[in-house]
Amino acid sequence: MMDMKAPGLDVLSGPVDRYLTTLHRRISAIGDGAIATYIPELAKVDPDLFGIAIATVDGRVYTAGDASVPFTIQSISKAFVYGYTLSEYGRDYVLSRIGVEPTGEAFNSIVLDEVHNRPFNPMVNAGAMAAAELIKGETPEARIATMLSVLSRFAGRSLFIDDDVHRSEQATGHRNRAIAYMMLNSGMIHSPPETILDIYFRQCSVRVTCADLAVMAATLANDGVNPLTGDVALERDYIQDVLTVMNSCGMYNYAGQWSYEVGMPAKSGVSGGIIAVIPGQIGIGVFSPRLDAHGHSVRGVNVCKEISETFGLHVFRNHTNSGAVIRRELSGDVVRSKRMRNPDERKRLDEKGRTIRLIEVQGGLFFGSTERLVRRVDDIAAEADYIIVDLRRVHDADTAAGRLLVETDANLTERGKTLIFAHLEADGRLAALHALIAGRGGGAQRIFEHRDQALEYCEGKLLAATQPARDLTKFSLGQLDIFRGLDRDELRLLEGMVRPMQFEAGQAIVREGDEARLFFAVARGTVTVQLRIPHEDGERIVRVASLGPGLTFGEMALLDGGRRSADIVADERAVCYGFSVEQLREVGKEHPNLLMTILGNMMRDFSERLRRANDEIRALEQ
Ligand code: GLN
Repeated sequence: MMDMKAPGLDVLSGPVDRYLTTLHRRISAIGDGAIATYIPELAKVDPDLFGIAIATVDGRVYTAGDASVPFTIQSISKAFVYGYTLSEYGRDYVLSRIGVEPTGEAFNSIVLDEVHNRPFNPMVNAGAMAAAELIKGETPEARIATMLSVLSRFAGRSLFIDDDVHRSEQATGHRNRAIAYMMLNSGMIHSPPETILDIYFRQCSVRVTCADLAVMAATLANDGVNPLTGDVALERDYIQDVLTVMNSCGMYNYAGQWSYEVGMPAKSGVSGGIIAVIPGQIGIGVFSPRLDAHGHSVRGVNVCKEISETFGLHVFRNHTNSGAVIRRELSGDVVRSKRMRNPDERKRLDEKGRTIRLIEVQGGLFFGSTERLVRRVDDIAAEADYIIVDLRRVHDADTAAGRLLVETDANLTERGKTLIFAHLEADGRLAALHALIAGRGGGAQRIFEHRDQALEYCEGKLLAATQPARDLTKFSLGQLDIFRGLDRDELRLLEGMVRPMQFEAGQAIVREGDEARLFFAVARGTVTVQLRIPHEDGERIVRVASLGPGLTFGEMALLDGGRRSADIVADERAVCYGFSVEQLREVGKEHPNLLMTILGNMMRDFSERLRRANDEIRALEQ
């Protein structure tokens, strides 16, 4: 995080570094303001120090200037300690002790909310002292350790107290003493003021760098998860409380104008630090000790203003796009699962496939985007029976999304329609959504790991509704598609060659690389053609196709006699008819029509599949 760039190297750095370097140079010219001297130790600081840091929610920290020079955190600590009290005591209790109303006055003003008998808010000294009283620990040392660990978790490293500044505050902080005693007098605090003041002064005296501040702010921007360590510094639920109070009260009696001009929840401290938070994006930390009349770093305010304007980061600017939620819609007559179908099934799927619809969803699912999605699902349900929601490209779903989808599911069920989810995993980012939907019963058959399985499920339902599954073990070879058109004598010849074989579930029928001596027809059960793809941890199995009764595999050996290009495994107990390629070629010499008919059937099947593949590619290109 050290800023070690020689000025001449700027040209080599990335766009954000370059921007910060220029910004730093420009704002350095501002020499207005005065350092705080009411805490004598703070008066010793070099007033020209100036650092800027931006930390992203994925942990990249950009810095310019004196970003690694330590200084005391001062009032910026108030935001984090407030968050801690919320997580330890819950909203209601904390609200009973500390309000959330701006004072419109300076940080150290001696005003208290007498109507509710509490300080106005946790960002002014009075409220921060009330919060400090809530820091837990058996002994004063333990409470200080708690405070340090709270701040350290946000910074992602162990922070320490600057003893000189702490002593200096202790020695001169009489105004804070006055506030504490007034609060004791009216029952807003209950323990000895000196104990609370000591924790409060120490909390203000914790040393940070402006890079630390950026990470602390980025942790608030990242739902409470420290982007460097991955540790939860504060539960997500309380982040909005902390940011709300920072927004209305963090900049004291300048908060309104700040919000108007900069539009970022922020907090400043008298040593010259400021943090600002753009939820979901970045945290900013600035340090420059010269302060304006409100007690905010003059350069710090300017830096935040510029960053906000340049990058359009005012929090009320809309960065979400609810409309982009539907990436593409596909229909079951064009897009098929990898389950191979016989010509009759294919025909039925061509005719009825439009009752299966697939919606590819993308981005984040929140109220706005999910409302669009379920509105579309509702429309489609008027003409489709099965609607697959493919969540592969969804990275996040909140509780609003869960509620809307569950309601839609119930509604579709009432209408006799089926809502199906693909790529909805039990763990990972959509875990909560998975739990909600699976919890509604029927989970297993309506939630699929892969959209291909979802499609296959729907096709299966659709086909089953029109005709029962085939079992060709009791039928003659003439019913196999590949032998269609052969006369009785020719079929009899083949019957003499057939080798019925049974395979157990999971058993390999052929293996990639094997010499292709046989081709097979499935008589009962299903088999899957699959590839083993080398992967970080071993192998990944990719399904190429599945076949059921009436379909043939390995027949390419009739054309090229080469080696197997994939594994073929039985999905369940399966019966297959094996035919020797060599034997068939032999027979073909005497009975050329037999071989021609078989090859003709194969070619027709290939060309139909190719045509279908082209249609599918066309649909996917749209
Ligand atoms: N320790 C300082 C005080 O209480 C903190 C004030 C601030 O940073 N605004 O006076």
